[in-house]
Amino acid sequence: MLGVADALKIVLENVQPLAPIEAAISYESLGLVLAEDVASDLDLPPFDKAMMDGFALRAADLVDGKAELTIVEEIPAGKTPTVEVKAGQASRIMTGAPVPRGIDAVVMIERCEVVGTRVRTNEPRVRAGLNILHRGKEMRTGEVVLHVGARLRPQELGLLAAVGRTRVQLQPRPSVAIVSTGDEIVDASVMPSAAQIRNSNGPMLAAQVARAGAIPRFLGIARDDVNHLRALIAEGLQADMLILSGGVSAGKLDLVPGVLSELGVKALFHKVEMKPGKPILFGVAPPAHAQRLSPGGARETTVFGLAGNPVGSMVGFELFVRPGIRKLMTLEPGPCWIRARLTKDHAYRTDRPTYHPARLTLTDTGFTVKPTVWFGSPDLRGVLSANAFVLLPEGDHNHRAGDTMMVLRVEDE
Ligand code: AMP
Ligand code: MG
Repeated sequence: MLGVADALKIVLENVQPLAPIEAAISYESLGLVLAEDVASDLDLPPFDKAMMDGFALRAADLVDGKAELTIVEEIPAGKTPTVEVKAGQASRIMTGAPVPRGIDAVVMIERCEVVGTRVRTNEPRVRAGLNILHRGKEMRTGEVVLHVGARLRPQELGLLAAVGRTRVQLQPRPSVAIVSTGDEIVDASVMPSAAQIRNSNGPMLAAQVARAGAIPRFLGIARDDVNHLRALIAEGLQADMLILSGGVSAGKLDLVPGVLSELGVKALFHKVEMKPGKPILFGVAPPAHAQRLSPGGARETTVFGLAGNPVGSMVGFELFVRPGIRKLMTLEPGPCWIRARLTKDHAYRTDRPTYHPARLTLTDTGFTVKPTVWFGSPDLRGVLSANAFVLLPEGDHNHRAGDTMMVLRVEDE
C-alpha cells in the first residue's frame, strides 16, 4: 500500500498554484501571498521627523547638556514648521512632526523645564541626530519594499498602506466544495433516528478549509444514490478543489470512486497506509469539467475522497488536503512535523502507522507530547483535548516516557 510520504508527493505534484488576481487590500487579505513586487511611492519618513515630544535645538548650544534657550515656535504633528531655529533658540515639537530648519537634535520633554518663554535643558547625552529619523531612512521612492511571494501579515498590510497600495496582485483564496455522503447521515439540526448519525464532517471540514485559508462551500449530504451523488460531484467540480467524505471504501454502497471515474476524474491514488483514514482517494478532474472561468482560464479541479469516520477524515485533511490548499495559494505546503518527547509510557499495537490524537506542549526543554484517551476513528471527542497527532509506527511497541516521537502539528497553540 502507498505510504503517506509518497501519497503527499503525488498530491503536491498534481496541484498547481492558482493564477493571481488583482484585489483590494484589507485585513481579509491576511495570510495571502503577494504576486508582484511592490515599490514605495515616496520617501519614508517623508521629512526629518521628531521621534520624541520635546525641544528641537542645536546640540552645540548645550554645555554638559545644559542650556537656557528661547522658545520660538510650537510644532504639532501634521504642521510644517515656519521658523528657522537660530543659536540660543529652540522649538517645542511633538512626536512625528517635521523638525524645523537650523536644528540637529531633539531633547525629550522629560529632560526639559519650561520657564515662561524659555526652556532649560538637562541632557548630557545630547549629540547631532538625537531623536531625529532622517528623511528616506526607512525607504526611498521607487525602492522595492515587498517582493513576490511575501505572505501578508499585519506588518506587510501596514506597510502596503504606508506606500499607498490599496490594490495589489495576490494569490487568491481557493474555493473548496465539500460534500458529505451517506444515507445514514442527517443534518445537525435533526434528531437522528435509531440508525442515523449527524453530519459532523461537513462543519468540521468547512472549518479546516477556512483554517487553511481557503473558502469552503458545503454542497450538502449526498444520498448513497448514483444520480444524487453525481449531481453534487458535478457541482463540486466547478470549485478549485472538491472534498468528499464517506463512501470511498470497498463497501457495496461506497459509490464515490465509481461516480468520480464516470465524471472523468482520474484517481491518482486510492488507499494510503495510515490509521485512521486509510480509504482515501485523490484524483484530478481535467479542465473540461471545470466550467468556471478563473482568471487563468479553465483549470483542473483536484478531488479528495476522505474516510467517512470523522477522525479519519480530519487526519486525511491535515496530511494531504491542507498541503494541497497551501500549494494552490503558493504557501509552504507542510504538513508541520515536530519532534517531541513522550510525557509518559505508551504501549500499543497497530498494523498501520497510526496518527493518534495528542497534546503537544512547548516547554523550557523543547516539545513534549501526550497521547489523549481515544477510542478510534469515530471518536471525535477524543480529539477535543488534542492539538496534534502523534505518529505511532506500526508494530508492537512499548514507548517509554522521554522517547522522541514524530508529531503532526495541526494548531499553533
Ligand atoms: P463510509 O466510509 O461511508 O462507510 O463511512 C464510514 C463511517 O463514517 C460510517 O460509520 C459513517 O456513518 C461515518 N460517517 C460518514 N460520513 C459521516 C459524517 N459526515 N459525519 C459523521 N460520520 C460520518
Ligand atoms: Mg457511507
